[in-house]
Amino acid sequence: MNVPSRNWRLQQQRYRLVGEVCNHCGVTIFPPRDVCPECALPAQTPFTFSGRGEVYSYSTIYHPPAGFEESAPYTMALVRLEEGPLITAQLTDVAAEQVEIGMPVEMVTRRLQAEGEEGVISYSYKFRPRLRRAG
Ligand SMILES: [Zn+2]
Repeated sequence: MNVPSRNWRLQQQRYRLVGEVCNHCGVTIFPPRDVCPECALPAQTPFTFSGRGEVYSYSTIYHPPAGFEESAPYTMALVRLEEGPLITAQLTDVAAEQVEIGMPVEMVTRRLQAEGEEGVISYSYKFRPRLRRAG
């Protein structure tokens, strides 16, 4: 099965959270935008994030857009990555009422939508609670 080249970047992100790092000021950037948001200089060096972070803020969606009804209600969170950037992502493997600010989370790859034009299956990163095991 051929994968259209325009999906290449998305395919990469299926497994790793890849952004960029600014070689001028050291800021890490996600999503990749090729320009540093801090110093406005070109920043095109790939940087792989750990995928770990914590919930910075969140809101639960009870009336989702078409195509996402099955998963409602679900929680969208603003996650602060360990490396600094804030990214918006859906939380998974957690009940809405268990989500709290500061909760440690980690990235997982999940199927986002089973149907769509041409039957394409979309994947996206989500975040789930990070298990804290004693010992
Ligand atoms: Zn910079």
